[in-house]
Amino acid sequence: MKILIAADMEGVTGVVHWDHVSPSHAEYPRFRRLMTGDVNAAIRGAFEAGADEVVVTDGHSAGRNILIEELDPRARLNAGGPVPLAMVQGVDAGVNAVIFVGYHARVGTPHAILDHTWSSRCVANLWLNGQPTGEIGLNAAICGHFDAPVIMVSGDECACAEAAELLGSIETAVVKRAAGRMAAECLPPEVTHAAIYSAAVQAVSCLRAGEAPPPFRLQTPIAVAVEFVCSEMADRVMILPGAHRPEGKRVELTADDLLTAYYVFQAAVTLAGS
Ligand SMILES: [Zn+2]
Repeated sequence: MKILIAADMEGVTGVVHWDHVSPSHAEYPRFRRLMTGDVNAAIRGAFEAGADEVVVTDGHSAGRNILIEELDPRARLNAGGPVPLAMVQGVDAGVNAVIFVGYHARVGTPHAILDHTWSSRCVANLWLNGQPTGEIGLNAAICGHFDAPVIMVSGDECACAEAAELLGSIETAVVKRAAGRMAAECLPPEVTHAAIYSAAVQAVSCLRAGEAPPPFRLQTPIAVAVEFVCSEMADRVMILPGAHRPEGKRVELTADDLLTAYYVFQAAVTLAGS
């Protein structure tokens, strides 16, 4: 049994500010260590419940956050980027299920730590098939495209609620309760690591028992709609073949399948931010 742990940083233990997740800031090294700790707790849980193989993908920013020297030696690490499958790099390599660690709510969620969708600078909203979608939904759908269910999520209370609403009976580990976008009641690592470990044990045990939620799939073709932060971003994205622009800041595209939709969205955000 092979488990992919897809890790982001905004939903990691103790993170409440962009400074905590930005390599240029003095506080960042502390939170790299905390991110590695959250990931290690999930690795321990997955192996405890019988996983044969655990691969971790560092999905925050340039993918250079997790401290490999402190990583559980039984795991392997996908680090760096860009790579086509981005935050879930490796999900196409025979993965049985996926665990999201350190995830965050989609852009526009009230009282959610650092709520955003892919790029807080560029993306004001994302819809897939008309449904507002964040990184949880987008990445779960690409996992579903490769037949892998998401079985567990850790993050703040809103991220866990978003995942449960979208994906059904998955395990969640709440590491903080947000009072605003940059304020939360945070649980210390000793507590969150125990919660992440337990949730991972439970999730992988359910998977082994054949009781995991089904892979999350969207009906094809996929309608991708992005509202950008400003209209000049949409100007740049309009060179993508098949792009429509019903409003100044909104661009719509259609993709034959979810993998294409994932690439189209990444291309659009890259163009918008260039
Ligand atoms: Zn993110």
